[in-house]
Amino acid sequence: MFETKLLGTDEESLGTAAKLLKEGFVVGIPTETVYGLGADALNEDAVRAIFQAKGRPADNPLIVHISRLEQLEGLVREIPAMAVRCAEKFWPGPLTMIMPKADIIPEVTSGGLDTVGIRMPSNETARKVITLTGSPIAAPSANLSGSPSPTTAMHVMKDMNGRIAAVVDGGECAVGVESTVISFQGRDCIRLLRPGFISVEDLREVTENVVIDKGVLEMVGEKVRVSSPGMKYKHYAPKAEVTVIEGSSRDFNRFCRENADKDDVLLTFCEGDSAGLENRCICLGESDEIQAHRLFDALRELDAMGAKRAFSRCPEKTGVGLAVYNRLLRAAAFRVIRA
Ligand code: AMP
Ligand code: MG
Repeated sequence: MFETKLLGTDEESLGTAAKLLKEGFVVGIPTETVYGLGADALNEDAVRAIFQAKGRPADNPLIVHISRLEQLEGLVREIPAMAVRCAEKFWPGPLTMIMPKADIIPEVTSGGLDTVGIRMPSNETARKVITLTGSPIAAPSANLSGSPSPTTAMHVMKDMNGRIAAVVDGGECAVGVESTVISFQGRDCIRLLRPGFISVEDLREVTENVVIDKGVLEMVGEKVRVSSPGMKYKHYAPKAEVTVIEGSSRDFNRFCRENADKDDVLLTFCEGDSAGLENRCICLGESDEIQAHRLFDALRELDAMGAKRAFSRCPEKTGVGLAVYNRLLRAAAFRVIRA
């Protein structure tokens, strides 16, 4: 066990973070989506240390982060025309694109796949660290495998203290849910593998032809071959048993009146959801963007409260709401009740 250094975002601290990364250590870094567990994507031992720190299954590939568009060319065998258009529109930003990987990307990084997911974050600190390191940075979310993703440096410390060299504290993540992940099919089809802040509606501005992969809204078994390995693993789970309640605010309120015990915690969107109820509540807010921003902290808060059972309002399945719904479904192990 060793101390994990908590670093600031001043030049000297970022220099220290980059030095550690160059030497093959794992460093927690802020991005606009969630905190990432960064290591040099081209250094096999460093990448193995990420999998070890997280307890992540070896076949679940890592996203590779770059800070300049020119870095992309050396990392992939081919850049589809559609990827160029998406990069122009959404980079830097919370969009990961899956492309055929170049040999320089080690198989540990790509989880044994022949493809690699690449993203250029918009967070300035993340981009500075990548540039100072001088190498692309592989970074999954900086939580223990299976736990809610971290949106503050303190969340990272809670899961990773003593497991990694340092964490750069860049404050709260602006978006709060992980990047949108897409792949390309043929010349003009985008396949959505994981919803995020870049919504289906945003992607449709690039092409009408956007397909939502089955794994976004349905449970896939551990043995099934999926287009994105992360889909099949248990995710974002707080200790509490969470159930998502579909329906209006009034439906939710009535459902809780009839079914919630006094110790159950409610994840609400507005005051009306819990009107007249005595239960402890965590309010996620009314807009899908605020819900995305607060969700993971709320799931961690359930644990801090010692909640055994929680009922949550069901997000909209459009815009950023689809990303919130996708994460909440997994946190709830797909328990959904129509009120
Ligand atoms: P995380 O690192 O926790 O943000 O998760 C990354 C997600 O991206 C996982 O769901 C992975 O399965 C997915 N992903 C990363 N690389 C690829 C790839 N080459 N092909 C398909 N999915 C990928
Ligand atoms: Mg993750």
